[in-house]
Amino acid sequence: MRPVRTIRTQVGIVGAGPAGLTLAGLLGRQGIETVVLENKSRDYIEHRIRAGVLEQGSVELLEEAGVAGRLKREGLVHHGIELQFDGERHRVPLTELTGGASIVIYGQTEVVKDLVSARLAAGAPLLFEVQDVRLADIDSHCPRVEFSLEGQVTQLECDVVAGCDGSHGVSRATIPAGVLSSYSREYPFAWLGILAAVAPSSDELVYAHSPRGFALLSMRSPQLSRLYLQCRPDEDIASWEDARIWEELQLRLGLPGWTLAEGPVLEKGVTPMRSFVVEPMQYGNLFLAGDAAHIVPPTGAKGLNLALHDVRILAEALVDYYATGSKKSLAAYSERCLRRVWRSEHFSWWMTSMLHRSWDGDQYDEKLQVAQLRYTVTSGAAAASLAENYVGTAKA
Ligand SMILES: Cc1cc2nc3c(=O)[nH]c(=O)nc-3n(C[C@H](O)[C@H](O)[C@H](O)COP(=O)(O)OP(=O)(O)OC[C@H]3O[C@@H](n4cnc5c(N)ncnc54)[C@H](O)[C@@H]3O)c2cc1C
Repeated sequence: MRPVRTIRTQVGIVGAGPAGLTLAGLLGRQGIETVVLENKSRDYIEHRIRAGVLEQGSVELLEEAGVAGRLKREGLVHHGIELQFDGERHRVPLTELTGGASIVIYGQTEVVKDLVSARLAAGAPLLFEVQDVRLADIDSHCPRVEFSLEGQVTQLECDVVAGCDGSHGVSRATIPAGVLSSYSREYPFAWLGILAAVAPSSDELVYAHSPRGFALLSMRSPQLSRLYLQCRPDEDIASWEDARIWEELQLRLGLPGWTLAEGPVLEKGVTPMRSFVVEPMQYGNLFLAGDAAHIVPPTGAKGLNLALHDVRILAEALVDYYATGSKKSLAAYSERCLRRVWRSEHFSWWMTSMLHRSWDGDQYDEKLQVAQLRYTVTSGAAAASLAENYVGTAKA
C-alpha cells in the first residue's frame, strides 16, 4: 500500500516503553523533535505490570527528563536488601557498602504513566495503536518508518530511527542478516508473579533461597506487595489458585516468628527467563535501545535500568550530533552501551544461578549456592560487590 501522507521529524522512535518514552523526553528538553509510535493502546502500556526497582542513576535520568515529581513523592527509597538461606535472613546494607547509593521502588507502570502524561501535556506526538509498522532505508541518510493508523498509511521520514520496541518488535528484525551477532542463554526456570493488595511484610526486598525453590518478596507501594515463585517455564498458571500460591510463598519465605501477610491477588502471570544480547546495537541510522537489543533474567532487577542507561547514551550522542553535525558520538553508541550491558548480563546470570534451585535436586549445586550466599553475607568485599552491582555503581 502506498503512503497517503508523510510526516517529517528528526528522530523517529518505535515503541513507547520506558526506553522510547524517556528518549523522547530527554530529546524534547534539548529542542530535538521526535515522533513516538506505539502499537498498543495507552491503557495497555500503562497497566502492563513489569519491573519496579530503579537504580539511583535511573532516578537521576528521569529527573533530567523532567518526569520525577511523583516518583520523588511516592517512590520508596531502600537502603538494603535481605538474602535468606538456611532458614536465616541476612541484610546487605546497600547504602553503607556503596558510599551512599540507594534504590527506589516505583513500578514501571508508574514510570510509563508519568512519561506518557508529560509527553501529552507538552503536545508532542505520541501515536498509540499504530499498525503494520515497517522500517525502510535504515542505511540511508533518510530512514523511514511506515505505519497505518485508523486505516491511513503514513510514512515518517527521519534523520535517525530509535528502535525501542522491546524483544518482539520489528526494529531488530529489519537489520540485514549477517550484521548482528547474538548471544543467549536459556534457563530452565520462570517466575510466577503476583501483585497483591496487602501491605508488604518486609520493609526491604527479600531474596529467598529455599529447598523448594527461589522466592522473592518485593513491593510496589505501602499498600501493594509483589511476590514471585520460581516455577517451570511451561508452568500452567491455571493450576495455581491463589490459595496454592500463598501456601507455597509461606513455605519458601516463612521463618520462625515471621509471617507473610496475605491479601487479594490483583494480577498473576508467568515470566520466562532469558539472557540475550545482540552486537552491535546499531546499523546505519537505526539505533536499538533497551529490550530490543538485550534481555536479562529479572533476578538482578536490571532490565528497566539498562533500557534507561542505553537511552541516556543515545540522547547524549544525538544532542552532540545536532549541535556539531559530527556522527562520532553516534558511531560510538553501541560500544559505550555494551560494556554496561555485559556487566548487567553477568550480574543477572550470577544472581539467578546463586538463588534458583535446580529441578533435579543436584545437591552439589545446592551446596555451592549456599557457600556463595554465606560468603556474600560474611565477606565485606563480596557483599560490596553485590551491592555496587545492585545499585548500579559497579564500573563496567
Ligand atoms: C512480564 C515481564 C516482567 C518483567 N519483570 C521485570 C522485573 O521484575 N524487574 C526488571 O528489572 N525487569 C523486568 N522486566 C524487564 C523490563 O520490564 C524491561 O527490561 C523493560 O520493559 C525494557 O523497556 P523497553 O522500553 O526497552 O521495552 P518495552 O517495555 O518492552 O517497550 C517496548 C514497547 O514497544 C512496543 N512495540 C512492540 N512492537 C512494536 C511495533 N512493531 N511498533 C510499535 N511499537 C511496538 C511495545 O508495545 C512496548 O510498549 C520484565 C519484563 C517482562 C516482559
